[in-house]
Formats: sequence, structure tokens, C-alpha cells
Amino acid sequence: MYQDYIDHMRSIADVKFALAVLQWDQETYLPIKGAAFRGQQMATLSEISHKMFTDEKLGVLLDQLNNDSSLDKKQLRNVELTSEDYNKHKKYSSRFVRKLSEATSRSYHAWIDARKQNDFNVFERDLNALVDLKKEETQILGYTQHPYDALLNEFEKGATVQWLDGLFGDLREPLKKLLDKIQAKPAPDDSFLHQHFNKDAQWKFGIEMLKRMGFDFEAGRQDISEHPFTTNFSAEDVRVTTRIDENDFTSMTWSCLHEGGHALYEQGLPAEQYGLPLGEYCSLGIHESQSRLWENCVGRSREFIRYNFPLMLQYFPQLKNTEAQQVYAAINKVQPSLIRTESDELTYHFHVMIRYEVEKQLIDGALAVKDIPGFWNEKYKTYLGVDVPDDKSGCLQDIHWSHGSFGYFPTYSLGSLYAAQFFKHMQKHYPDITALIGEGDYTKIHKWLQMNVYQYGRMYTSDGLCNKITGETLQQSYLIQYLTDKYAGIYGF
Ligand SMILES: [Zn+2]
Repeated sequence: MYQDYIDHMRSIADVKFALAVLQWDQETYLPIKGAAFRGQQMATLSEISHKMFTDEKLGVLLDQLNNDSSLDKKQLRNVELTSEDYNKHKKYSSRFVRKLSEATSRSYHAWIDARKQNDFNVFERDLNALVDLKKEETQILGYTQHPYDALLNEFEKGATVQWLDGLFGDLREPLKKLLDKIQAKPAPDDSFLHQHFNKDAQWKFGIEMLKRMGFDFEAGRQDISEHPFTTNFSAEDVRVTTRIDENDFTSMTWSCLHEGGHALYEQGLPAEQYGLPLGEYCSLGIHESQSRLWENCVGRSREFIRYNFPLMLQYFPQLKNTEAQQVYAAINKVQPSLIRTESDELTYHFHVMIRYEVEKQLIDGALAVKDIPGFWNEKYKTYLGVDVPDDKSGCLQDIHWSHGSFGYFPTYSLGSLYAAQFFKHMQKHYPDITALIGEGDYTKIHKWLQMNVYQYGRMYTSDGLCNKITGETLQQSYLIQYLTDKYAGIYGF
């Protein structure tokens, strides 16, 4: 009977991953004229996989398996998680799913137009309709305290407004103080990062970085896309993408390390659990912890830069009058700014907190959609001291809301928090980790992540995993300490 369950789940996975291949192709190689039929092909596959997942046969099978005493711990966990997913899917009427998908598609196009015209008003009506549906969705999914909890739960199981209010509340003041200290000091010079860097050289350097961090090119590849992302069709076929800015080699380099971190996680998930929950990632917060651990804790460390500087010089001789230490300071420069995706490790979290506050209040009705720009601009002034000149560099900058992804943004900060806590714990057990990074040897880090994170898939919740690894729940203190140590060294306080 468990085998029937596996067979059913694997058929669904086959369809879903075929859909993922089409999606990946759409973002990388699809010729313009192919877009219309591609949309249709993807919609069909998506409908097929939804039908297969909500099939009554699966429900009956799950009922039987939930009472099967012969299952082992992993099998039981798979059945438990699939039952949860199944019951959740069943809550949605097909009428609501269609309404949501139509509203999402409309608001996505409205967002594109609004960005072109640099005017939030163009987006407002469709976003309003989408927010109304999202409020309806919170009722469908159910919650105990705050309606936004229901949406947060979709991306980070167990996350609540109460928890995040506390976490962000404790993060805000120390980060603000740190920012003030930094801003009282002269900023490092980063002008040398903005020269012309040959596309080919950048591409080759990025591939070399991925190889060195342990990305298996026999189980994946890298291509170019508009926005960097990672996707997978099994643990043995993981695709990353990057983009190249010829006037700044750091954008591609650290995006490779970021997506590479996501990819190592996907490549490390247990292939024998293909199609089953234990073959899937734990949560978005944990996924993001993997990318940020490599991008920031490893990739933006003094030791990493020192070791890789000679290689950088080989690919980018224009850096020849620069020292490794200058590169280290430049890539860690803190600068309050308007755009989240271009912000530094510190101010990044203010961008997230602002979005969190907007979403929370939109969903509980305290903030009206039409008031988003005013609220947004005021918060940017208060938290970051920057004036938002227009909607495009303000509340229209992210794609998330147009997709209906409310509750996603907090997972980015959770990723940094988990990364700092995991990394500290790793250093405690292996005090030589930092020295090894200085020798270009990441095998210990990779093994540690395999043992502590990758192998478990969805066996534990993010909170459970964090407890299991570090012996405590998520703490904001590790990130604050990590950032304080780093910037005290660079800025000299
Ligand atoms: Zn990421």
C-alpha cells in the first residue's frame, strides 16, 4: 500500500518537474513567438498535477496509511505531510482557484504597465481585487490569531505575526544603532568595482566559483536569465541561472554564490525520496539560509576574498592596482538605498521589515491599498533616511505582490538569521572552518550542511531543525553579532 502511495506521488512529481522544465526554458531559451503556446502547455500540466493531487483515490490511500502501524518513522512523516498538503488543497474550491489565478494574471500585467508608466495608480485597482481574494484565502485556510498568519504559513510553516513582531522588533534597534555607527565613519571606496568587466571573463569566473563551492555539473548546469533563480527537476538535475552586468562584476559573482547555495541544498536532498515530502526542502526560510550562508557568511568573508583574489586578478586584470583588503571592504560597503535587491547585508532587513508591515496591515485591513505609496515612502524615510523619488524605485519595485505572494518577504530575513545561527554553530564545532575558507577548502562546510540540513528534507519544521542543530530556537543575536563583528573590522569602531 505504501508502494501505491509512492507510485502515485512519483507520477505527480513527474508532471510537476516536466512543468518546471518548461518554466525554466521559458526563462532562459524560449523564443518570443513560443510564449503563447507555452503558456497553454504549462496551464495544462499544472491542471493535470492538481487533479492528480486532489484525486479521491489518494485521499483513501492516505486514510489507510495513517492507520498503518507497519510504517517506519520516515514513511509516517511522508504520509503525515502529504495528508496535510492534501487536506489544504481540498479546502480550495475550483471556483476560488480560478478566480485567484485570473486576478493574479491581471494584476501581474497591471504591475508591468504601472512600472512602465511609473505610477502606482495603474496597479491599484487590480492589486485591490487581489488583496480582497487574499483576505478571503485567510478565511479558507484558517488561523487562530492574525489573518496574515495563514499566508505566512504557506511559506514558513509555523510563522506568526506575534513571532515576527518580536523577532523584527528585537532586530530593529540594534541594526539601527549599528547603521548609525557605520554612517559616522568614512565609507570605503568601491569605485573600482564599477569598471568594464568582460562578459566572457565574468561567465567563466562564475562557473569556476560554482565548481569550487562543490556544485556538481554532472547534476546541473548554469544559464543566463533576466532574474537569477534556482530550479530543480530532481536532486540529480538542478539548474541555476545568473545575469551579467558588464559594469559591475560583483553582481554576477555573488549571485552565483547565492544561487549556488540554493543549488547545493537541492543537489543534497535525498534522491531516493524523489516525489515525496522528505525529498523536498524544509521551508523557504531554510532554503534562503543556504544561499545566504554561502553568499554572505562564506563569500563575503575576509578569508574568502583573500584566497580568491589572485583568481579574480586572472579574470579581471583591471583590479591590478587594488588590494584584496580593498575588495573586501568595497563588497561589504553599507549604504542605505532604495532598492532591496541591491542593498547590503545590514540595510536589507529594513527593506524586508517595511514590506512585512505593509502586508500585515493590508491583510488585517489597517492599511488600504491606495495608501501603500504614502506609507512606504514614510517608512523609507524613518528606517533608512532615504527619500523615495517615484513609485518605480518605491513600492512598485518587487514582483511579489503582483503574483499574490503575500507572506514571502519575511523568509528572506529569516534566511539571514538562520544562516548566522547555523554558521556560528558550525564554527563552534569546527574552529578551523574560517582558516579552511582562507585555503579555499569548503568540504567541511559542505559535509556539515549535508549532515545537518540537506539529508532531512522536510523531516523537521524549520523551528524543529534549528533546535535540533543548534539546541535553541531562532535568535536574532547571532545575526547582530555577525554583522557587528564584520563592520567593526571594516569601519574601525
Ligand atoms: Zn535566494
